[in-house]
Amino acid sequence: MNISNQLKKAINLIPRTNLVLQEFLAVLAEKKPVMIYVVKSDEIKLIKNNFPQINIVCHNQIIGNKKVLICALSKDKSLAKKAINIFCSKNGGDFKLLGDLMRYPKCCVESHLRYCGQSKQLDLPLIIYQAYKSSKKCNFLINNLLNFSTRVSDKDSNDFLHYLQLNKNIAIPYRYFQFISHNSCRYDCKESIKIGKEINSLLKEYAPKIEKIVKYTLSKPILFFDLFKLVIFDGYLKKGILYYKKIIPPFFLIDDLLMEKIKSGNRIIVDNKKIEILRDDSTLFIYQKKSEIDGFILDFSED
Ligand SMILES: [Zn+2]
Repeated sequence: MNISNQLKKAINLIPRTNLVLQEFLAVLAEKKPVMIYVVKSDEIKLIKNNFPQINIVCHNQIIGNKKVLICALSKDKSLAKKAINIFCSKNGGDFKLLGDLMRYPKCCVESHLRYCGQSKQLDLPLIIYQAYKSSKKCNFLINNLLNFSTRVSDKDSNDFLHYLQLNKNIAIPYRYFQFISHNSCRYDCKESIKIGKEINSLLKEYAPKIEKIVKYTLSKPILFFDLFKLVIFDGYLKKGILYYKKIIPPFFLIDDLLMEKIKSGNRIIVDNKKIEILRDDSTLFIYQKKSEIDGFILDFSED
């Protein structure tokens, strides 16, 4: 079966699994060497039966108190083995080597290592703030703020369930809001944009309806606080003012009062100390920030 037919087959079958469709397409099309994901045993069967050219190497791991299978999927079996061994190694593993195997841009791997340090605990808001601060422009192709499912830790599991509840009616699976899967060093990282572009065109060609929703959602201004605390706006940023018509899904876990004010407003101004919500020219609410990082706007909209 040629690649094009395999990709079409994947469009039909992969949405039945928990895999990220565009990542699987990229592995099939050899745009991505290997992907690592939690996979259920019946999903492994489905993939093995339908895509015999994909090798799946799995490790049993305990997450929370559940036993899960973490698997590497690749057309290259030895690559899948190497990647999963590093990923699942007890002492954290050689992330630099793993980054190379996953074909992540060197600049992004290095920046990840700088923040990661000895502890594996990432300060996500800080990493995102630094990447944002060093960017001239945020490119939607590398907007990875909605792609958090691989970063959810045990202590986030309640938030995650709440998030799922809020978004049970969204048009596509929540995992699909991404063109890249890594943390980019900046939001204008050229190497990451290149990867994002490839995945975007793959999705556009084979699943145009899904691509449209993903692109629409990712190319928006986002008010970001934390992993599960952000707001996506249908709007635009002009001279430091965010003008918006409405907020769009997926929805995150914003405090009720703040959310109510955002919903009744149509402009937001953010500085280092506060977030001001306005309806036209009149102020509705001022949120006092605890720090510079406590709420900032990343504008992924296209000019
Ligand atoms: Zn980079």
